[in-house]
Amino acid sequence: MISLTQISKSFGRHQVLSNIDLTVTKGEVVVILGPSGSGKTTLLRCVNYLEKPSGGEIAIGDFKVNCKHARKKEIHQLRQKTAMVFQQYNLFRHKTALENVMEGLLIVKKLPKDEARKRSIALLEKVGLGSKLDAYPSQLSGGQQQRVGIARALALEPEVILFDEPTSALDPELVGEVLAVIRKIAKEGITMIVVTHEMGFARDVANHVVFMDGGVIVEEGTPTELFNHPREERTKQFLKRIT
Ligand code: ADP
Repeated sequence: MISLTQISKSFGRHQVLSNIDLTVTKGEVVVILGPSGSGKTTLLRCVNYLEKPSGGEIAIGDFKVNCKHARKKEIHQLRQKTAMVFQQYNLFRHKTALENVMEGLLIVKKLPKDEARKRSIALLEKVGLGSKLDAYPSQLSGGQQQRVGIARALALEPEVILFDEPTSALDPELVGEVLAVIRKIAKEGITMIVVTHEMGFARDVANHVVFMDGGVIVEEGTPTELFNHPREERTKQFLKRIT
């Protein structure tokens, strides 16, 4: 359903991604693991063109973008099919939780205000924030802000949600509530690609685990294959360090 073919990315002379091929099936939860600096975030950002890949092709369903010759309209369409949940939440500070979720529905989906409001309330209830509709980000904990970020991503009804280390800015006691929400929506069959260092979460929730190092995919497989029977030395070393 989503395929990345030969995606590469350089920043100046520094090649950060080299010929990445990755296929994600509909409903799958893909977790990307790897040491810091291995290119995980850059890969995720390439999927929705927050970073422009230097080469390769991105396909979501029948929609394909050739990264060397992408037109503005195609990039816009690609972005409409994806939503990103950021490490630092990236909420509008001067808008309430409800307004943050409504924004995409009004601007991107062009829904009437009443409808946008109704849907946003339902989504905030889904992430456990029904009582915080009118709170501003500064009045919410990090975990609550991230749950608003997740509701905002869901509101766009994307084909895939991209999570960029969604819990790494949180105090440890707040990580669980955010992972619980991600788990819950994963069960609903929403396709996700998640960059995370949360190994327990990766084991439980992922259908497909990808290990990256040095800008390439070193190894990928089911959680059992990757965690219990890693084939590559680099994967073994990484798992030894973090567990
Ligand atoms: P990871 O998510 O695995 O920690 P990143 O994708 O953030 O890795 O970074 C991969 C490499 O790309 C790093 O060496 C980083 O310094 C470099 N990099 C990332 N973003 C930029 C940028 N905007 N400009 C220059 N170099 C960057």
